[in-house]
Amino acid sequence: MEKFNHFISYGRQTIDDEDIQLVIDTLRSSNLTQGPKILEFEQAVANYVGTKYAVAFCNGTAALHGACYAAGIGEGDEVITSPITFAASANCVRYVGGTVVFADIDRKTYNIDTEQIRMNITKKTKAIIPVDFTGQPANLDEIMAIAKEHHLVVIEDGAHSFGASYKGHKVGTQADMTMFSFHPVKPITTGEGGVIVTNNEDYYKKLLKFRSHGIEQTAYAEEQGSWYYEMTDLGYNYRMTDLQAALGISQMSKLDAFLQRRKEVASLYTEKLKDVEGIQVPFQLEGVESGWHLYMIQLEHANRKQIFEAMRAANIGVHVHYLPVYWHPYYQQLGYDRGICPIAEDWYEKALTLPIHPSLTNEEIDYVIKTLLSLI
Ligand SMILES: *Cc1c(COP(=O)(O)O)cnc(C)c1O
Repeated sequence: MEKFNHFISYGRQTIDDEDIQLVIDTLRSSNLTQGPKILEFEQAVANYVGTKYAVAFCNGTAALHGACYAAGIGEGDEVITSPITFAASANCVRYVGGTVVFADIDRKTYNIDTEQIRMNITKKTKAIIPVDFTGQPANLDEIMAIAKEHHLVVIEDGAHSFGASYKGHKVGTQADMTMFSFHPVKPITTGEGGVIVTNNEDYYKKLLKFRSHGIEQTAYAEEQGSWYYEMTDLGYNYRMTDLQAALGISQMSKLDAFLQRRKEVASLYTEKLKDVEGIQVPFQLEGVESGWHLYMIQLEHANRKQIFEAMRAANIGVHVHYLPVYWHPYYQQLGYDRGICPIAEDWYEKALTLPIHPSLTNEEIDYVIKTLLSLI
């Protein structure tokens, strides 16, 4: 087989002239940051998802940090999340002094197992951070029921699932707060960027304050004069710029087309791989519309490392998402034992990510499939 002379990355941005023009227009405007594009972008996101509020951040990790702050998570609180995720889903809990509790995944969906959530709830549990891994929404009906029963806050990590839906609900409308990321590999991009969507006014106000140094316009300002502001808590500078927001506004108009193409890519893979001995294709829950951020297969018998290296040598940007978070040295030194989530660990050893993004061509997809089949 002829080797492709360009590298096929597992994920990447799709940018067109319209995107570029909007950023240039903003560069020529008077506001590079703290201008009108931020609110315009936030409104576009909130309208699309169907929430009252959206608060944009400089990246998704900062947005998760903000959500943990708004939820009031602190020292002594436990927060349950999945071990099969990017480290940021857990790190945000550490930023505010909380303790991360990892609950094992469901073997079929690769998302957090709701029975495992129940088993890990203690008097100290304060929140759940479900992750919509690969773009398939977590089991939100069940998670929201557990949260209600135990008075927990649900912060959904929707970094993979912007535009996806769960049994007729757009992702972002069920959890107390939902984060979306706009890193270049994510559903749409702002370079770096993130957002929290919520229907809760109290969370909304806290997020705004946290994003900008903990500063707010207090009632006292009326007395003092309109220049007056107060820093009422220790916040950060986690603001998004207008350049990023301008790109985001332009990208929003393409989100549905991007999702459509991702879905097509996924069906092409599934069609060709579903009956192959030794390969397990991704399972989709009934009534769920995935964002198809990742297309992940399980290699049942093959040597994953060998196949990975051979695919890379053939210019195919396969990947593995993700090392169980508590296997990282940082979490190991906090005392998490290996073996606490056996299904996740077993799943990880067999996992392989194939390239998927809106600009992937059918020719590239064919090449990926043929190369993989020749190696199995
Ligand atoms: C990308 C990602 C994040 C963090 O988003 P950034 O914008 O890169 O900070 C968090 N969680 C998951 C699951 C992600 O994939």
